Amino acid sequence: MSKFNPISSMQIVTKCPLCDFKYDKNNIELIDSKDGIVTLYLNCQKCKGSMMMVIMTGAMGITSISMISDLVEDDLDKIKGSYVEYDDVLEMHKFLKNK
Ligand SMILES: [Zn+2]
Repeated sequence: MSKFNPISSMQIVTKCPLCDFKYDKNNIELIDSKDGIVTLYLNCQKCKGSMMMVIMTGAMGITSISMISDLVEDDLDKIKGSYVEYDDVLEMHKFLKNK
């Protein structure tokens, strides 16, 4: 079992990229957490913007990827438990790097 604690990683998620509103724990929902990969859904109280954040922990430390999302909370049930595949995360990481 990993000792990784998704709650402690949330300190790297500080504010909304759209309006700089500082997130409260109530605005952060844990979607999935397995194998050191944590997927979070963040919902900004101020601008109602939402985003997905994927946090990976590994030998190189913590890597986080955030995406502006147009998901609404109703969609969360659809992606829960099926969202993150490790290869997808790597592909996404490459994609973001090359941008
Ligand atoms: Zn915002």
